[in-house]
Amino acid sequence: MDTVAIIGAGVSGLSMANYLEKNNIAYHIYERRQKDDLKGHGFILPKEGIENLSNIINIEELYSRGSFLKKYIHYAQNGEILSEKDLEDVFVISRSALIEILSQNIPADKISYTKTLALSGFSDGKANLQFEDNTTLEADIVIASDGSRSRIRRKIFQDEVMKAVLENEVVNIIENAEIANQIETNFLKFHHNDGGLTFGILKLSSTKILWYCQFDITKFFINEDYTPDCIRQFMVDHFGDWNPLVSSIINQSSYENAHIWRVYELEKLNPFYHENIAFIGDAAHPLIPFTSQGVTSALKDSYTLTQLILEEKDLQEAFRKYESERRPEIETHIKNGRILLNQFLLPLDQQPKDTLPISYK
Ligand SMILES: Cc1cc2nc3c(=O)[nH]c(=O)nc-3n(C[C@H](O)[C@H](O)[C@H](O)COP(=O)(O)OP(=O)(O)OC[C@H]3O[C@@H](n4cnc5c(N)ncnc54)[C@H](O)[C@@H]3O)c2cc1C
Repeated sequence: MDTVAIIGAGVSGLSMANYLEKNNIAYHIYERRQKDDLKGHGFILPKEGIENLSNIINIEELYSRGSFLKKYIHYAQNGEILSEKDLEDVFVISRSALIEILSQNIPADKISYTKTLALSGFSDGKANLQFEDNTTLEADIVIASDGSRSRIRRKIFQDEVMKAVLENEVVNIIENAEIANQIETNFLKFHHNDGGLTFGILKLSSTKILWYCQFDITKFFINEDYTPDCIRQFMVDHFGDWNPLVSSIINQSSYENAHIWRVYELEKLNPFYHENIAFIGDAAHPLIPFTSQGVTSALKDSYTLTQLILEEKDLQEAFRKYESERRPEIETHIKNGRILLNQFLLPLDQQPKDTLPISYK
């Protein structure tokens, strides 16, 4: 059987490794970060994402590390309810918990940390993999799962244009059992009267909540030092006089781990493969946060690609089918993401009543 080199141990690379492990296909993962460096905040997983995960991990463990959201409530900044919608099997979990769970089935000798790929070129239809420590590697198949700023993708598709999205986010996770209890299993989102600014709250566990703010970068500016103090000041300036639940969260939060999320998208999608390299997850198709489909799409990519590698004798045919199966759904999420972005920019009196914070295909 061919050997597979997976570049990047985020959700897409780790889920691919889980599928390969299950199907006894030889592989090795190369990851830039250190093993315990589990940055990031939270993920929303619609039903399909959970179903997909149940094929490769102990689903009870997943359930014990996050929580289901039952209702989406959209509020005005003063707390008046604009609309409510029931959510069906939408789950929220921290990024670190999901990465940890996905790593559990990978034997230690099949993953190398602090190993950063610097692709050098191609010979005989195969990528020459070179790492920053100057070691080199040959593999029959290369899975590029190195995220939205994929170095491999940029080296191959040198004409691609990554453009900044109008919206950026501040994300934070805080310990607060009282607020976690108060918001129950609801997903709350507050919207500025004039649009272009929202505040979302989700319960991660009985003691932890995740909050995030989405802001229109043409209207709201944050000091680019990005220190905890700058982020706190930005939040107090813009949310200090909102509904008491929002303002109390802003005032009580520690900002040591708050993160500014700069959002980028590809002007045009590239092919999902090149020679013996297949792109999965954000490396193939960065999705904007409004879709809530980044993780589920990554999981579906790795499942589809593994099935096709197993079924097809010819690698190029497997890659071609992979792209034709996955691309239309990704294009739908990109289109829906733009619709959700435009709605976010609208003032309250123009907000639609039936929007969900998720893109469905
Ligand atoms: C640090 C971090 C925090 C994040 N936090 C959130 C969050 O809070 N909420 C959210 O919705 N999304 C978050 N995301 C994005 C989210 O993880 C992805 O949208 C989604 O899960 C798809 O995952 P992915 O595996 O395709 O990409 P990613 O999650 O970006 O994973 C890519 C992996 O590849 C590794 N890598 C990159 N370049 C190289 C290289 N040259 N050689 C070797 N390894 C390399 C990276 O270290 C990373 O582990 C985060 C991503 C990162 C990297």
